[in-house]
Amino acid sequence: GREEISTPKRTKEIIQRYGFKFKKSLGQNFLIDQNILDKIVDAAGLDSESGALEIGPGIGALTERLALTAGAVTAVEIDRRLIPILRDVLSPYPHVKVRNDDVLNVNLQELFKEDFASVNKVSVVANLPYYVTTPILMKLLEEKLPLDNIVVMIQKEVAERMAASPGGKEYGSLSIAVQYYSEPELVCIVPRTVFIPQPNVESAVIRLKVRERPPVEVESEKHFFEVVQASFTQRRKTIANNLKARYFPEEGRERLEALLAEAGIEPTRRGETLSLEEYARLSGVLLAAGI
Ligand code: SAM
Repeated sequence: GREEISTPKRTKEIIQRYGFKFKKSLGQNFLIDQNILDKIVDAAGLDSESGALEIGPGIGALTERLALTAGAVTAVEIDRRLIPILRDVLSPYPHVKVRNDDVLNVNLQELFKEDFASVNKVSVVANLPYYVTTPILMKLLEEKLPLDNIVVMIQKEVAERMAASPGGKEYGSLSIAVQYYSEPELVCIVPRTVFIPQPNVESAVIRLKVRERPPVEVESEKHFFEVVQASFTQRRKTIANNLKARYFPEEGRERLEALLAEAGIEPTRRGETLSLEEYARLSGVLLAAGI
């Protein structure tokens, strides 16, 4: 048979045959490394009973690998120029569906119903366009889709922030948001050389095991995430100073310090030292006080 789409030789051949020009603004860096593709697909733990949703298939390097493992594959690609190429190179795989859309505009609940009715679990597997990593991942997590896990190639720094623990400089509101919905795990660091064209940044593969329920109980998720945001407004300030600026601009510090004490949090701590449990407690105490 033919060589796989992802080999450097076949990739160059496809790009040439269709006269494809890479668009930097769409984050187009295609994978040409078999080992990395193996690692990505392995990390998702797919079998013939699973579905895979790919975001940004490019010319189908990863899509083909998913097709060889999963029972149903849907790939959402924003770039119209890639659609005829994908239909052509993926024609040997009838259980692959290509959709031409911006993933941020897709009704994912509907997509899951339409495309994944026949499988018993679904993973998102993607080499993401880096300019929209966070909005895409937050959409996937916040919509509470029936997802098993998310395995994605992203910028290394972003992966480190998502997986960070309290106390370090990488830990922030993104770590908390991601960890509220999932258990992140760094799979591997990836050099620029596995892509064409090569991106300007280092990459990493991260696996987010989607939680069935959050690790902490909060009365209002909206309020919880607001308190988190407020606590990181100025990273170098204490939690008391950040919360005062956001919630108590007019009052003295006493009320705020009393509420922090009630939540068991020293006012001199910084936002980056608080765990999810502490943020949940803080949000609960503030909410109960009408704040
Ligand atoms: N999966 C391919 C690979 O690994 O070789 C291509 C990955 S490339 C980093 C990202 C892909 O996402 C590109 O094909 C790009 O056109 C597509 N893309 C960018 N923004 C998108 C969006 N908002 N919705 C869907 N696809 C998008």
